[in-house]
Amino acid sequence: MKKISAIIALVVSLLWVSVFAASPLTGKIIALDAGHGGGETGAVNKKYAVAEADVNWNVLQALKTKLEAPEIGAYVVVADRLSSRKDRVNDAIAKCAELDLNNDGVGDGRKCDALVSVHHNGSTDSTHDGTLAIYNEKKDKLLAEKMLTVLTPLTGKNEGLLNGGYGMTVYGNLISVLTEAYYITNDCEVELYLYSIGDPRITDLSQSQSCKDSGYILENRIDREAELQVAGLSSYFGSPTGGKGGRK
Ligand SMILES: [Zn+2]
Repeated sequence: MKKISAIIALVVSLLWVSVFAASPLTGKIIALDAGHGGGETGAVNKKYAVAEADVNWNVLQALKTKLEAPEIGAYVVVADRLSSRKDRVNDAIAKCAELDLNNDGVGDGRKCDALVSVHHNGSTDSTHDGTLAIYNEKKDKLLAEKMLTVLTPLTGKNEGLLNGGYGMTVYGNLISVLTEAYYITNDCEVELYLYSIGDPRITDLSQSQSCKDSGYILENRIDREAELQVAGLSSYFGSPTGGKGGRK
C-alpha cells in the first residue's frame, strides 16, 4: 500500500511539474512599463476621448495577471509611472533586485530578465492601423522580432521593427522592447478597447458598421493583446538564443 501511494505521489508530482513548469517563462523576472501616465496622456483618440496611457495601463494589468498565473509562473515587477523613462527603467531594475524569492528577508539582487514597455501608437489619420515593435540595441532585436510576429495578427498589418533612440535598454543593460500593438487613434480599435472594458458606448449592437465592414470583430482586445504578449515572451525565452542577455 505504501509503495502504491509513493508511486501515486511521484506520478502526481511529475504531472505537476510537467503542467506547471512547461512554460519557458517559469521563474523569469519580467519588468513591465506602461507607457506615459503620471500626467502624460500619450496619443489620444479624439472621437472617444481615450488616452493611450489608460490603454497601456489596462493591457499591463492583464499581462501581469497572465504572467503570474500558475501555468506560467513568471515574477512581475511594474515600473512606477515616473515622468522620465530613465527613472522608470531604474525603478524597474531596483524592484527586480528587491525581489526576495528565496525568502531570506533580503532582496536577491537579481536582474530583470526582460522589460516590456507597453504602448499604442498615434497617427493623424483616424483609419490608420498597424503593429510595430521598437528596440534599442542589437541584443534586444530578437525579443522585438518575437513580439512583432505574435502581435501583428491584431491588425494584420506589420509595420516592422524600428530601431529607435528610446533609451529603454541603455540604462541598466536590460533586454527590452517597446510594443505598439495598434493605433489608439484608430476609431475602430478604440471601439474594441471600449468594448473590452465594458464601456456602454460600445455593445454588440453599437459597433460602427464601417468598422465591422473593415473586419474589426468585437472581442476583448485587452485580453487578446496580453495573451499575445505572453506568447511573444514565451517564444523569446523558449528560443535557443533567447533570454541569455538578461542576467549575468
Ligand atoms: Zn506611447
